[in-house]
Amino acid sequence: MDETVIAMDLQSERARLILTLRRNGISDQAVLTALEQIPREYFVPDTFLRHAYDDSALPIGRGQTISQPLVVAMMTEALALNKRCKVLEIGTGSGYQAAILSRLSRRVYTIERHKPLLRESESLFKHFDLHNIVTRYGDGMAGWPEQAPFDRIIVTAAAMEVPQALIDQLAPDGIIVAPVGDAHHPQRLLRGTRTDAGMDWVELGGVRFVPLLPGVEAES
Ligand code: SAH
Repeated sequence: MDETVIAMDLQSERARLILTLRRNGISDQAVLTALEQIPREYFVPDTFLRHAYDDSALPIGRGQTISQPLVVAMMTEALALNKRCKVLEIGTGSGYQAAILSRLSRRVYTIERHKPLLRESESLFKHFDLHNIVTRYGDGMAGWPEQAPFDRIIVTAAAMEVPQALIDQLAPDGIIVAPVGDAHHPQRLLRGTRTDAGMDWVELGGVRFVPLLPGVEAES
């Protein structure tokens, strides 16, 4: 099949995915528009091109995954972003979630512990002129103290608890969205809001993420 045919197929599949997201309760039009505008096929390996608009997580190498579109949409919606927000993401992975965030916020700081993944996502940010994304190779569990506080924090890998260092880097009225639980069992997606009285947590549903791991991956 030639490339134009594949591109046309992907375009209609992208439109179908947006309908699926709507049917599953995503109602924030700005979030849906961002998902419509960022071509997910660039963020998945070539071998999965035809599955770029399946509503499923896909392998991106090094045992990591690009998140399921519905989960990306849910988490993004839960962050209640606006163009004044300074956002921290832990787990750049493919860069897809960061690209979505960049369309909806002022600046995105994203940290990844796998250098090759980070380098690939950086070249995509450049390709799509997403100049408001700042990247860092390191252990995201410690957050990014030099840039704190953040209006929003999103963690895209699961830990047994939301790391306290991240909660500490949340601005007043800030929102953090993070999955918690064991990597081998269903996890709970939590949203925490910093209020005058402390953190206010709500559970958003079940999810499945790769584990949040300490330190950085040794280069091979
Ligand atoms: N947001 C990504 C999802 C990536 S999967 C996307 O849109 O594609 C989770 C990522 O978190 C993996 O790439 C993994 O390497 C990374 N990760 C796990 N623990 C981490 C840590 N402590 N610091 C930074 N990145 C981490």
